[in-house]
Amino acid sequence: MIEVDSVTKIFPGPSMDFTALGGVSITVKDNEFFTLLGPSGCGKTTLLRVIAGFEYPTSGSVHLDGMDLLSLPPYRRPVNTVFQSYALFPHMTVAENIGFGLEMLNRPKKEVRKTVDEMLDLVRMTEMADRKTSEISGGQQQRVALARALAPRPKVLLLDEPLSALDYKLRKDMQLELKRLQAETGITFIFVTHDQEEALTMSDRIAVMNAGSVRQIGPPREIYDHPAERFVADFIGETNFVGAELLEIEGEGEGFARVRLSSGIEAHVQAPSGPVANGPVTLAIRPEHAWLVEEAQGLLKGKVENVVYFGTDTHFHVIVDGGDLFVLRHQNQPGQMQHLAVGDRVGLQIGRGAGQ
Ligand code: ADP
Ligand code: MG
Repeated sequence: MIEVDSVTKIFPGPSMDFTALGGVSITVKDNEFFTLLGPSGCGKTTLLRVIAGFEYPTSGSVHLDGMDLLSLPPYRRPVNTVFQSYALFPHMTVAENIGFGLEMLNRPKKEVRKTVDEMLDLVRMTEMADRKTSEISGGQQQRVALARALAPRPKVLLLDEPLSALDYKLRKDMQLELKRLQAETGITFIFVTHDQEEALTMSDRIAVMNAGSVRQIGPPREIYDHPAERFVADFIGETNFVGAELLEIEGEGEGFARVRLSSGIEAHVQAPSGPVANGPVTLAIRPEHAWLVEEAQGLLKGKVENVVYFGTDTHFHVIVDGGDLFVLRHQNQPGQMQHLAVGDRVGLQIGRGAGQ
C-alpha cells in the first residue's frame, strides 16, 4: 500500500515560487489500478517523480507498506517507471533492453535470461527478441518499455502517459493489454493520463487533479455519477450546466432537492453532498439523461442552435431559455427527431434511463 500524505512541491522561480503540488494525499491499495487524471500542468508528473524519487517534496511523506520511501534513493525504491518517451536503447535488441535493468542490479546471468524470457512472453514479443528496438513499431516499443519496467518485479509501477504517443486504434489495444498485464502480475499500477475516457475504462479508482490538488478520489462510476464539484463534472465526460433556483432540500439527507427551472417548472433533482443555500444554483446534467420532445412537453424549453451529424448519432445544440447551452445526443434511428432544424423551438425532457 502506497500512502502519499500532504505532499507539497514548490519550485523556486526568479520572481515567484510555483506550487506544483499543494498538499496531495492519496492512498493506493495493493494490486490496484490507480489513475491520476487531470489537465496538462496539474502536477501529475511531479507527483510520480516524487514517488519514484527523482524529485524531493517540499513537505509531506510517502510510505510503501509502512516503509519511508523519501529516505531511500530512487534505485533503492521498489518502484519503477514507464515514461511516455519509452527511453529505449536503439542500438540494443529487444531482449537486451529488457534485461538491462537486471544486469545493472548485478543479477546472475541465468536469472536475467529466465526473467527476460518470461517478460518477452508476458508482453507477447518472444518472436522479436533479437530485433533492434530501432527496427520495431511504436506499439512494440511500448511493449518493450513495459517489459523492461516490469522485469525487476517492482511492487509499484508508475506509468506516465504511456499510451499518448500511440495512434487511436493501437491505444485502444494497449489499454486492454495494460489491464491484462496488471492483472497477471499483481503489481500495483499508478497510471497517469489527461484522457478522461482512458481513466474511466481502465481504472479501479481515479484521483482527479487540478492545479496541484486532488479534487476527488473514487471508482469511475462514482466519479462520473456523483462528481464532487463543477470542475470534476466538466472534466469527466460531457456535462450540461444550466441555471436554476433551489427551493428546498427535501427531507433529512435523502439526497433530493426541489428546484425551479428556467421554464418556471419545478423539478426534483439529486442534491449536492455539501451544504447549499436556497437561491440560484447550477444543475449538472449528462447528455444521456436528456432527450428532445415537443416544446409543450419539455421541462426545459429552448431553440435549436446547431445540428451536428456523427454517424451513429446526431448532437443537437440547444440554447435553453435563460441562455445556457445544452448539448443532447440522439441515436440516428428512424423517427428520432430527424426533422429538427436550426431555429426550431423544442422541449427537453430530463431523467435517468427513460427516452433513450
Ligand atoms: P502534468 O504532468 O500534470 O502535466 P507537471 O507535474 O509536469 O504537470 O507540472 C506541474 C507544474 O509544475 C507545471 O506548471 C510545470 O511547469 C511545473 N514544473 C514542473 N517541473 C518543474 C521544474 N523543475 N521547475 C519549475 N516548474 C516545474
Ligand atoms: Mg506530465
